[in-house]
Amino acid sequence: MRQSLIMGNWKMNGSRESAKALTEAIIAGINADNTAAIAVCAPYVYLADLQTLTADSSLAVGAQNVADQESGAYTGEVSSAMLKEFGCTYALVGHSERRSYYGDTDETVATRFCEAQKQGVIPVLCIGETLEERESGETFNVVNTQLDAVIEKAGVEALKNAVIAYEPVWAIGTGVTASDEQAQEVHKAIRERIAKKDQAIADNMQILYGGSMKPANAKGLLAMPDIDGGLIGGASLDAESFLAIYQSV
Ligand code: PEP
Repeated sequence: MRQSLIMGNWKMNGSRESAKALTEAIIAGINADNTAAIAVCAPYVYLADLQTLTADSSLAVGAQNVADQESGAYTGEVSSAMLKEFGCTYALVGHSERRSYYGDTDETVATRFCEAQKQGVIPVLCIGETLEERESGETFNVVNTQLDAVIEKAGVEALKNAVIAYEPVWAIGTGVTASDEQAQEVHKAIRERIAKKDQAIADNMQILYGGSMKPANAKGLLAMPDIDGGLIGGASLDAESFLAIYQSV
């Protein structure tokens, strides 16, 4: 039985003040009888505040990226050891915005994934196809290639301590959500691909859906057998919406 995970991705939004208020409101809305885990991926500069604010709660904290190097002359990067020091449980790797605007490749994403794990930070590997790729029938090839790059570098065993987020690029921030069936089809294919290498790892793998998930569509998506939670951008900036998604599990 896989635990569901509801994870917010705040991207580059908010202020120190609003991040604090949002965190407090989310914590206040967590109920002990909800079986889902809940987390937020905040901008680096707010992680110290979140470490303090979440200390006595079950709200986990993640970063939105992690360096592909351990330490050294890598201006602008933040290492997994630093994330660990500030209480991060998770780090997103390979978010489509990193891939498309900042040049992350399958190779650098795989390296970031490995670096996160070296310090015990759980990488959340984001994979997904663009609209053009979907329309040209490339969805499964794209997703498989992105996944295989990590498996080849890290080994299938590494997926034991990782999360996958299937995020069709055409659904991110667009208001267009994959239908329950479209998302389920890809989630199932991802799980089957992992199962070819290791059935037990595939059975336990948390695979989140991301792409315009909102209170109105969360229940249907989260009810799909291979969807184990959500990675939520826009709707995670509003405590009420984010908690409504969490309550839909
Ligand atoms: C995301 O950024 O990972 C995401 C899914 O964003 P949104 O929910 O806004 O589509």
